[in-house]
Amino acid sequence: MSPRQNNIVPLVPTRVELARPLPPLTYLAPEGLPACVRVRVKLRNGAAMGVVLGPEPSPPNVKLKPIESIVDPFPLLPPKLRELLAFAADYYAVGVAHLMPLSLPNVLIPDWEIEIGQGERLRDLRDEGRWAELKAIGEAWHRGERPLQGFLHHRNRRGAGLTEVRRTELPHPLKVTPGQAKALVALEDAGGAMLESELRESAGVSAAILATLEAKGLIQRTKRLDLLSRRRDEGLDQRVVLTEEQCAAVEAVDLSRFSVQLLYGVTGSGKTEVYLELAGKALQQGRRVLWLVPEIGLTPRLLARLEARFPGQVALGHAELNSSEKQADVVRLLQDEAPIFVGVRNAVLAPLRNIGLIIVDEEQEGSYKSEEHPRIHARDLAIKRGQIEHCPVVLGSATPSLESWQAAQQGRYKLLKLTERPLGINLPEVQVVDLRDAYREQRKRVVFSKALLAGIAESLARGEQAMLLLNRRGFENFWMCRSCGKALECPHCAVSLTYHKGPYRLRCHLCGFEAVPPEVCPHCGADHLRGVGEGTEQIEDQVQAMFPKARILRLDRDTTTRKGSMEAGLLAAEQGQVDILVGTQMLAKGHNFPQLTLVGILNADQGLRFPDFRAAERTFQLLTQVAGRSGRADKPGRVILQTYSPDHPAIACAVRQDFEGFAEQELRYREALAYPPFTALLLYRSEGDAMEAARLALEAQQARLSAVPGLRLLGPLEAPVPKVRDRFRMHLLVKARQRGGISAALVAAPLVPGSNVVLDRDPLNFG
Ligand code: ADP
Ligand code: ZN
Repeated sequence: MSPRQNNIVPLVPTRVELARPLPPLTYLAPEGLPACVRVRVKLRNGAAMGVVLGPEPSPPNVKLKPIESIVDPFPLLPPKLRELLAFAADYYAVGVAHLMPLSLPNVLIPDWEIEIGQGERLRDLRDEGRWAELKAIGEAWHRGERPLQGFLHHRNRRGAGLTEVRRTELPHPLKVTPGQAKALVALEDAGGAMLESELRESAGVSAAILATLEAKGLIQRTKRLDLLSRRRDEGLDQRVVLTEEQCAAVEAVDLSRFSVQLLYGVTGSGKTEVYLELAGKALQQGRRVLWLVPEIGLTPRLLARLEARFPGQVALGHAELNSSEKQADVVRLLQDEAPIFVGVRNAVLAPLRNIGLIIVDEEQEGSYKSEEHPRIHARDLAIKRGQIEHCPVVLGSATPSLESWQAAQQGRYKLLKLTERPLGINLPEVQVVDLRDAYREQRKRVVFSKALLAGIAESLARGEQAMLLLNRRGFENFWMCRSCGKALECPHCAVSLTYHKGPYRLRCHLCGFEAVPPEVCPHCGADHLRGVGEGTEQIEDQVQAMFPKARILRLDRDTTTRKGSMEAGLLAAEQGQVDILVGTQMLAKGHNFPQLTLVGILNADQGLRFPDFRAAERTFQLLTQVAGRSGRADKPGRVILQTYSPDHPAIACAVRQDFEGFAEQELRYREALAYPPFTALLLYRSEGDAMEAARLALEAQQARLSAVPGLRLLGPLEAPVPKVRDRFRMHLLVKARQRGGISAALVAAPLVPGSNVVLDRDPLNFG
């Protein structure tokens, strides 16, 4: 393994980058080792995975250490993906080594022992330093001309809970062992297919037995979300005849070259059918499809439709899967086993080859932007990837981001509109309740207006479902002292604590701090503490008190911490086992509740108060999405929207379902205030044990930036939440007219390694 042990291959100074906040380091490595292969190196505090950047022509004048070992015989990432990573590294000013783990989990290790012909193994070529030959093998492998059996480990490729076992067409053999017989009989009893975990439990068979059966071709094991296999009988594979608009959209997409289209249509207008049709065409051409969704857990129905249409051809990237499951996905991609890859944000960097179509569903979703290092934006990188792969990119949305909408208005993206719902369902009727009137009338702050209560009662009486939304978890938003007026704050963060009644705790939603609620005010000692502001937990209580017979299900982050609990709750709701759903915005997205005919939005203005120029856009998106939940099947839907500001454009336009009107007003406002999409932004964030330390770090950065022409610098200023986990936070915002201005700034004023400053290009979150 160790390159030190052989004398044949000369070692030369080589630049190796680690996924650490360090500049590239120089090590001795075999001459000819190509860039982008992973190596292991020793650091003072242990070993680390690094990525080879290339030879170092002017090594530092110190005694260099050799690398520990070479992980990859050749670059495992397809050449076009390497090109994308190089672009992203420049664009976001991060090293390639920081991006690489998003494409290739570190646990994925190739096998050097495999035979490559003439009695030789990969290892032999390494030991003789035949790097050019290895590179050629790799290139042929990437082109699909040279399968390397067993090259990538299969050990962990099947998470049992997510694997389906299916009986093949082969007839039942005459001779089987008792264990094999048990497995086959159980499978046949179950109609031919079962989840592996269930089969192993019910038939009491081991994985080894299943492996033998698979080797004999008697069964087939496929990895998929367990939800999918249970839903196959829903007739999801019924093919529809596309409407004229849908046909026009499909035909407008030229699969032979790069272009970006914005597919704009309300929920239910048939965008997914357009994607499916395009995906089918790309597959026919022998190319692959990269399909990005904002969140996998929220799209079981989409996955079921995909599975039904393209059985066994869909691989899944899941942010929450454990590393062996992620590894399994990547192995399938690198072995070209699955031509469709569906995944969330990081999937944009998945090692998929020969891409013929990229779909970004719900392109406006904030989850496409990473809020952790490296802070990539998957939609933006998807467009770059399309350019590199020479394939079309389809962005779909009912409420496009203003960035994409503006690009479509300017003709940089092709706008494809779907204006009707093929199933003929009308958009829900939206009724606005002005909470100021309700206050005047009832002389108190109103949580449930009369109209909303009447609506809930009606929907219960008809045996239909209602959904109530409030974007705030917990029982009471915060506790304050009526005597001294102070709120109870987190000792570590500059936010108030939220009261959770179930566990009887005050909790910080930023750092997780929790405490038993005090009897008296810790500031003044008075026993006048009281809770202010309802959260979903309290809404659930109040609704249950008013409608004692109703079956209520609350879905928010407190009730869905267990893996799968969200899916289970949604399934129960879809199957009509719930009368009233109470929850946060996580309920707004991507579900189809056939019985749901009433949506109540308790406080539509809630999001408008955030100090963020996108507050109106987000509110509009949320309200529109929520409204789209109501009345999707054969029953007309109704939305009751409670607000203190019915005239705010975000609310007034959402009520009319008027995206274009909203976009026009909002774009004018953005232009006047020089915000995106009319400027490019770069946010520097710093943290320190004291505010002063955070400020100093940013002031140094500000000084370096002041030499760069064409930038506007705002700050340093305290962040909107100035303290989190005992760290003080400052922001410095940089505006430039064009993206190029920001790129120039990144080159001219690189961050000083080791300073407490991080940068966030095209920031979405200013918290
Ligand atoms: P979106 O992705 O825009 O929300 P979908 O593609 O999911 O819309 O379509 C909504 C519903 O309408 C689905 O049940 C779908 O099967 C159905 N549908 C879409 N297009 C057609 C069509 N041309 N004919 C009949 N039904 C259709
Ligand atoms: Zn805290």
